[in-house]
Amino acid sequence: MSLEIEERVVADIMDNSEAYENLLVLADDIGSRLAGTENEVLARDFLLEMFWRYGLENVKTESFEHRAWTPVSESLLITEPIDRELACRCGGLSPSTPGDGVEAEVVFLDQGDRAEFEKNKDKVRGRIVVIPYYPIARQLKTPMAAEYGAAGLLETRNYRGSLQPARTCAFAKVGAIPVASISKEDAEYLKRLESRKGKLRIRLALESRVEVKPSWNVMGDLGGEDGGSEHILIGGHYDSWHVGPGAIDNAAGVVAVLEAARGLARYSDQLKRRVRFILFGVEESGLVGAWAYTRDHAEELDEVMLMINNDVGGRPSGIGVAGFPDLKSTIDEVAERVKVAGDDLPPYRVSVGGPGWGSDHFPFLIQGVPTVGIATKPVDPEDGLYGHTRGDTPDKVYELGLTECAAINARLLLHLSNLPDRPTRRKTRAEVEQMIRSHDFMETLELLDVWPPEHALERYFNFE
Ligand SMILES: [Zn+2]
Repeated sequence: MSLEIEERVVADIMDNSEAYENLLVLADDIGSRLAGTENEVLARDFLLEMFWRYGLENVKTESFEHRAWTPVSESLLITEPIDRELACRCGGLSPSTPGDGVEAEVVFLDQGDRAEFEKNKDKVRGRIVVIPYYPIARQLKTPMAAEYGAAGLLETRNYRGSLQPARTCAFAKVGAIPVASISKEDAEYLKRLESRKGKLRIRLALESRVEVKPSWNVMGDLGGEDGGSEHILIGGHYDSWHVGPGAIDNAAGVVAVLEAARGLARYSDQLKRRVRFILFGVEESGLVGAWAYTRDHAEELDEVMLMINNDVGGRPSGIGVAGFPDLKSTIDEVAERVKVAGDDLPPYRVSVGGPGWGSDHFPFLIQGVPTVGIATKPVDPEDGLYGHTRGDTPDKVYELGLTECAAINARLLLHLSNLPDRPTRRKTRAEVEQMIRSHDFMETLELLDVWPPEHALERYFNFE
């Protein structure tokens, strides 16, 4: 593979407005892409069509079933010391409340980690806990709150703007207690009310439907000139929450993958190892499409050289290596070459972190497959505050950031596909367990109910 070809691929991507146009189709024309809805199908068909049009091989969808969640109604009433209605959003996969809803006294926690629940266990039992959205994820707070006997969980946005963020309260199953979100302003109001007028009671009434429905991963291949079975996966999820068009999270990641495919398609004879581009369905409620891929391609996982994930767009800031420190030297070397020129870019660095669980790389990682994530930064820091709200719109996405991410994806693929040797191999079960222990990760996996991976696959895809 010559440097000249690499430069031609990058120049073509950087000079083209295709990525931003595709983003507008996903986020403006289609809009929110909640799994299980007609819009999800529209997005699937659009992406399939683009893979065809760009000339990928083996273009197809692979279907899987999942628990599709649809909100029906949500209401939050203050019943003591005054009567007032507040706006709330039912949490993804929250159970419906019986009868008129759950009524209970309120207790405020600062973050909802294990230590704080333990310290406040007498206050939590039987009450509705009110906790900020960050830093502890809803998927971890919900089972913990249930364990301590809470009657429900109200999550409050950390930033102003009267928005109520959406998020799932459990991975791919109905959560243990009712969960809803409220704005920061309403949370502050509740606190003032309690401190000025004393005991606060609220009634939370939620109704939603959960039905088993199909979804789809959309994929296509390029390259594989060496005829070997070693291959690279690159992907990102195309679903979003119902509340907004999911422009940054994750239309931006999808089009950065799609644009890399477009840029490389003409030069696929330059890709020694085969590259598979996958746009995952149903990430938001439990990384379900990625789990389904690992189930359907279990026999091939030994041959995955690397899985590259694109989740949440912005300008590129580096490459995150999760749980595989032995990948760092290769990725460092490649990162040195894949930097996109631009004095105003944030410092581009390769970071080695723990085994994060919050995106589609996770089902691969936990089954020993090496993974990295394309890290990004918002151009204006404020643009990064709108994830999972109706404020995640295309005006927060910069065309330049999309093309830069696409160019980095394309360069990474050209280099990795042609490396003489694999930088690392799949971890064994014992090595994965070692990684989990060394990062104190087991309690998190237990709260998410995804360990061991066979258990996760069984409960994800068994609908009896
Ligand atoms: Zn995402």
